[in-house]
Amino acid sequence: MPLSRPLESSYDVIIIGAGASGLMCAQTAGYRGRKVLVLDHANKIGKKILISGGGRCNFTNMYTEPSNYLSQNPHFCKSSLARYTQWDFQGLVAKYDIPWHEKTLGQLFCDNRSQDIVDLLMGECREAGVTVRAKAEVQKVVADKDRGFQLITSQGEFSAQSLVVATGGLSFPTMGATGFGYEIAEQFGHALIEQVPGLVPFTLSKKWLNHFSDLSGVSAEVTLSCNEQSFRENLLITHRGVSGPAVLQISSYWNPGDRVMVNWLPGINTDDWLQEAIQQRPKAQISNVISEHLTKRLAQTLCDYGKLRLLTDNGRKPVAQFTLAELDALADELTNWGLEPTGTEGYKKAEVTLGGVATEKVSSKTLESQLQPGLFFVGEVLDVTGHLGGFNFQWAWASGHCAGQYV
Ligand SMILES: Cc1cc2nc3c(=O)[nH]c(=O)nc-3n(C[C@H](O)[C@H](O)[C@H](O)COP(=O)(O)OP(=O)(O)OC[C@H]3O[C@@H](n4cnc5c(N)ncnc54)[C@H](O)[C@@H]3O)c2cc1C
Repeated sequence: MPLSRPLESSYDVIIIGAGASGLMCAQTAGYRGRKVLVLDHANKIGKKILISGGGRCNFTNMYTEPSNYLSQNPHFCKSSLARYTQWDFQGLVAKYDIPWHEKTLGQLFCDNRSQDIVDLLMGECREAGVTVRAKAEVQKVVADKDRGFQLITSQGEFSAQSLVVATGGLSFPTMGATGFGYEIAEQFGHALIEQVPGLVPFTLSKKWLNHFSDLSGVSAEVTLSCNEQSFRENLLITHRGVSGPAVLQISSYWNPGDRVMVNWLPGINTDDWLQEAIQQRPKAQISNVISEHLTKRLAQTLCDYGKLRLLTDNGRKPVAQFTLAELDALADELTNWGLEPTGTEGYKKAEVTLGGVATEKVSSKTLESQLQPGLFFVGEVLDVTGHLGGFNFQWAWASGHCAGQYV
């Protein structure tokens, strides 16, 4: 294997983290003529990009809006998102002739593999004259009034006028995630917003699992609601609880102890549907009527559980035998079904980290620290977290691009 060239020691810009935001920031700065070094401790560049979107990287979302992001300051992301849009990134994808498709809800995926996006980013970095180094662990950062930032790393000491923290969040530690960016933020006086796994599957009680885990692998389109947020997408039953896009989305709004309300019949007028069933097939067992909208096994399992068990006589009761009050109770149970997660599957399975570096002392225009000149934060390390669907990468591109114009 060829040995890599020895690195120079002094740069205009050093970026810690060769992920989505770091590489975007690097190329933008490089094209401005800045001498840029990107350091990553992982053995491979862009590991999280490679596993993203099930290996096909959901690289942006056509309907990206600031309302797709959670933050203590919901206005913070607006400036970056407006100055580097989903169309800008699509332009880059076109430049590299990467085939893509819209899967659903504006989510743009690679047709082939996520590697295409890493190749795009590395191609741009090369063209912009950026040096990218893997297996380079940053151990210590010191700020010096005259000499800028000094970095002590596993590959030697480096200095730069500007330092960009692009170390991402805590999810998927096996892919290189660390809390190092938060340590640097604290070192320079920045407050942190508590970090919590986001876009993460829920775990459920033993009792629930005993009843439902036979359905592992079964999914249904539902609406999930919690803390005044709702998402209508698929829910997937797993061996440990529930997952699927609807669950991942609502998990970012869930706090321990909260109930999540499940509407098993989204978009259905339950009064009309039940009345029609009474008229047209009065003797039909209610579990069969319900299975017109859910799979037969799911309908039966729901009828065998909790309040529905008594109400439906384990699904056997003919639809015409329900009193009006019972029909109301049935409709209410099917559309306001309480799910009580015992927890989440944590950072091991979370796609993102909620919280992070508080945005209050970071400029939303330049992404520069207001406490330490020359220090920048981009991407997921900041307290900005997107919904599922390509929004997190769009934030990484946008924030990386904006900081790249000022470093
Ligand atoms: C399984 C999975 C699937 C996902 N799928 C999607 C998707 O399809 N669409 C989407 O929009 N989002 C997706 N995400 C989220 C998305 O990957 C992240 O939001 C995005 O990568 C954040 O970019 P970033 O540059 O801030 O951080 P990252 O891309 O995580 O990059 C941070 C880099 O910093 C490096 N680093 C950390 N600490 C140090 C240190 N001390 N020294 C040197 N380097 C360090 C890491 O090795 C890493 O390479 C997914 C996440 C996961 C876990």
